[in-house]
Amino acid sequence: MNIIIIGSGIAGVTFAEKLRQLSDANITLLTTETHGYYSRPMLSRGFSNEEIETAIIIKPFNALREQNIQVIENITVSAIDRDKRCVYVPDKQDNKAFSYDKLIIATGSSAFIPPPFLPYQEHFCLFNSLRDLIQLRAARATILQNKQVPEWAIIGGGLIGCEIASDLAVAGDKVSIFHAMDRLMERQLIEEDSAALLSVMQDQKVDVKFNQLIESITPAQDKVCIEVAGDHFRFNKVIVACGFKPRIKLAKDAGLETNRGIRVNHYLQTSDEHIYALGDVAELPDNKLYAYVLPIRKQALWLAGFLSGQETQEWQVPEFNPKAKVHGFVAAHPYTF
Ligand SMILES: Cc1cc2nc3c(=O)[nH]c(=O)nc-3n(C[C@H](O)[C@H](O)[C@H](O)COP(=O)(O)OP(=O)(O)OC[C@H]3O[C@@H](n4cnc5c(N)ncnc54)[C@H](O)[C@@H]3O)c2cc1C
Repeated sequence: MNIIIIGSGIAGVTFAEKLRQLSDANITLLTTETHGYYSRPMLSRGFSNEEIETAIIIKPFNALREQNIQVIENITVSAIDRDKRCVYVPDKQDNKAFSYDKLIIATGSSAFIPPPFLPYQEHFCLFNSLRDLIQLRAARATILQNKQVPEWAIIGGGLIGCEIASDLAVAGDKVSIFHAMDRLMERQLIEEDSAALLSVMQDQKVDVKFNQLIESITPAQDKVCIEVAGDHFRFNKVIVACGFKPRIKLAKDAGLETNRGIRVNHYLQTSDEHIYALGDVAELPDNKLYAYVLPIRKQALWLAGFLSGQETQEWQVPEFNPKAKVHGFVAAHPYTF
């Protein structure tokens, strides 16, 4: 049995390792990554932790290869051929095909860019992967070498925006948050906790601006200029942190049913019986994406058990309660997700 997995995040790697324990299938993991399997939640400590670039690696790819999981890194799967049951990877002039009996799509999510920001894309950064973090850390190091305090704008006062802003501030940088709404993390926190979070951020000297409708993001000599209601603000770097977008293109192009994510049934099976989806990219029949590490890990373990005949009951959503990793903040009430 040939199992192909696309993606080496927690979904793809947890599934591969568990299936390896349970079966002697040929397992091949195809991924764009080059640094190994790393912890995405730890990206939020990317500036205050000096050792982050090594500390964040959970497992080098060779550790998976030692378990007899074939890992092909630094490649992007470009298409799925459902009739021939293979996926394609561009290879010099030609496409290389990998055949599957079962295909697991675990392609995760990219950062969401609000459509009005698209024309300014080359002037701002995103914060979604270890590659993004390495680039931002290098840019920050250059500013520090020039004996300047780095000045950052974070667009978005949601969970990720608040985590990055707090971490940069704790690392000693000047940070402003531009939030479209009138309170922080309004989707996850009740008003009282949003107010407590604001107070923590202000103690860290983060300048939080509410009700901000960004009009443009343009270069200004060696800085980046944000325009809001006719006012102009300049920063070394601007990070757009406005949520996430499941990577559904491969599935959509192959004619699988998609909505915000790839639609799966309670057995994590897509509209093609030979293809499953896991993690940030999978949309369950309740129309929800369970884009947090605990439910994703459970999905991956469950699917490995199911495909090796050890699980027969459908996947159940586990209890989970992730929390914002803003330095010094503890919410008094449960989060909403
Ligand atoms: C900054 C940050 C902080 C977070 N903090 C928390 C937290 O505290 N708690 C929590 O529960 N969750 C947190 N999350 C969310 C959590 O990290 C994600 O839900 C989880 O990592 C998603 O795992 P995944 O395996 O589905 O996808 P990903 O981790 O996105 O992995 C997908 C993989 O697929 C690869 N890929 C994509 N397309 C292709 C292709 N065509 N060909 C080959 N490879 C491809 C990508 O390179 C990537 O390696 C955080 C996320 C971020 C960004």
